[in-house]
Amino acid sequence: MDDYKIFLSEREMPQAWYNINPDLPAPLAPPIHPGTGNPVGPEDLAPLFPMGLIEQEMSMERWIDIPDEVMDVLKLWRPSPLHRAFRLERHLDTPARIYYKNEAVSPPGSHKPNTSVAQAYYNKAEGVERITTETGAGQWGSALSFACQLFDIECKVFMVRVSYEQKPYRRLLMETWGAECHPSPTEQTEAGRAILEADPDTPGSLGIAISEAVEEAAKNENTKYSLGSVLNHVLLHQTITGLEMKKQFEIAEDYPDVIVGCVGGGSNFAGFTFPYLKDKLEGDREIDIIGVEPTACPTLSRGLYNYDFGDTAEMTPLLKMFTLGHRFVPAPIHAGGLRYHGAAPQLSLLVDQGVIEARALPQNEIFEAALMFARTEGHLPAPETAHAIRGGIDEAVRCKETGEEKCIVIGYSGHGHFDLSAYENYFSEDLIDYALPQEEIDRAREYLAPLQQS
Ligand SMILES: *Cc1c(COP(=O)(O)O)cnc(C)c1O
Repeated sequence: MDDYKIFLSEREMPQAWYNINPDLPAPLAPPIHPGTGNPVGPEDLAPLFPMGLIEQEMSMERWIDIPDEVMDVLKLWRPSPLHRAFRLERHLDTPARIYYKNEAVSPPGSHKPNTSVAQAYYNKAEGVERITTETGAGQWGSALSFACQLFDIECKVFMVRVSYEQKPYRRLLMETWGAECHPSPTEQTEAGRAILEADPDTPGSLGIAISEAVEEAAKNENTKYSLGSVLNHVLLHQTITGLEMKKQFEIAEDYPDVIVGCVGGGSNFAGFTFPYLKDKLEGDREIDIIGVEPTACPTLSRGLYNYDFGDTAEMTPLLKMFTLGHRFVPAPIHAGGLRYHGAAPQLSLLVDQGVIEARALPQNEIFEAALMFARTEGHLPAPETAHAIRGGIDEAVRCKETGEEKCIVIGYSGHGHFDLSAYENYFSEDLIDYALPQEEIDRAREYLAPLQQS
């Protein structure tokens, strides 16, 4: 086949999500209640999430049907195209075949609405009137605003204050889709007021914004909270990308040898790799599955596999995951979506078992790859996505050295149209290639040690 794009018709869309829980090579450690030390039950999560999502979080069913109402919204942009990167291949002069699955075609411009739409639906089905969430650069906030608008739910976003001030466009996108967006910390929550009292000029952080969104949901009867990555149900909703990809590769009469994606919390990566992991775990296929992260926040490649909190304020359940410690504040790299101290428990387990490989790369190399991609393929990637592209290019260059004709797939998680100021910085100066000092990991080892017993 020599098509530039492989499309599916709407009738060929996957009808069910793939739940990896029953196929994991070891049992997943349960989330722990930090107060009692016991596993968290559905009733503990009920103030924050609708039952439909809590059931998915704990489900052992391999396939979970996608409701028609969710499908009807996903069809605004799905199925997404699988592209063959012929021009990039020629530029690299590689014998490898390079493909990319394009999640930038969604209205908010990333993979995130694959789950925000599903989450809004399950909330609406249980009569929830309002959803709160946090956002850093605004990718998740805009994806949830979009979904809430289509299901007629109010949406309130706590946006990290520095980003609110520096990145007006995603905030305007949220407001366009009818959401309220507040610079966090606010005066509206106890958590916010406490921080402002101590430091009125605080730039805010994702950890603080999570605390505010959780507090507001917990205190209001008709309000729930929503998270854009890390949790099992979020990864589940993202598997639609990998399931589509499998059908597209059948049409292309090809099969991936290497799959590369970027990892923040791990949801886009899990989404397009988990359906292939099933083949790999069943021993049918040799596939290299590679997650790429920033050297400034190398959670999977250098973190500890330990119980830890999801947020800075220690309000969430404890999750067993790779983590750099919940007190860790990553350096201000341009890939804001990859600055998270932890990683999804399901993905962490697979890295611990040696089924998935993790690599960390510095941001100048990332932007070099982003430019090469934009100048050959035309599409301008988000800085997060550029990590996946760099990983794919490195593999293709290796193929040139060895002469191997591998099939390489890149997860194209989103476009960079709202990240052009990051490109501007790259054009005008050398970006700082932050490396994580070993002391930071040693420090985390110390304060996380008591949580390992959980
Ligand atoms: C949020 C985001 C990511 C990182 O989140 P994951 O949960 O790891 O997928 C990656 N790419 C883009 C474009 C994003 O918006």
